[in-house]
Amino acid sequence: MSISFEELIDKHCGGVRGGWDNLLAVIPGGSSVPCVRGEKMKDAIMDFDYLRGELGSGLGTAAVIVMDKQTDIVKAIWRLSKFYKHESCGQCTPCREGTGWMMRVMDRLVKGEAEIEEIDMLWDVTKQVEGHTICALGDAAAWPIQGLIRNFREEIEDRIKSQKLGRRGAIAAK
Ligand code: SF4
Repeated sequence: MSISFEELIDKHCGGVRGGWDNLLAVIPGGSSVPCVRGEKMKDAIMDFDYLRGELGSGLGTAAVIVMDKQTDIVKAIWRLSKFYKHESCGQCTPCREGTGWMMRVMDRLVKGEAEIEEIDMLWDVTKQVEGHTICALGDAAAWPIQGLIRNFREEIEDRIKSQKLGRRGAIAAK
């Protein structure tokens, strides 16, 4: 508790594969908290207050997930959405409907087959799920997506734009 992320990784975990410049993102507190961009993590302190107050994430279960630049971050968060949709018991509506809805939008974001405006719609849905469910699973499903949008919006938009360009190119070539 309260050691730096750098010490945790370098001293206790064998370092970052490919070096610190190859660090893409970290989920510091297990799958349910928002991810943080790698460059913000090097000086981070691994405690509840710092991660929540400075980085908008959390220490959660302290099951630290470290992703290098070979990771498809949109797909990684999609995988979490799929997990939480599967785990929803269906008792309350925001979680039952919201986890499925969020996962289906994430399905399309992974492929870039969405509209840019849907990113904001997805954000709004996470806010409707967050804090409106019986147990913490609703928050757990919403927060990883919020972290993705907050930290990697540009990457999501680039994927949508390049998919559209690819489609236009294919039509023009016909
Ligand atoms: S928030 Fe909890 S109680 Fe509500 S549907 Fe999801 S898993 Fe069930």
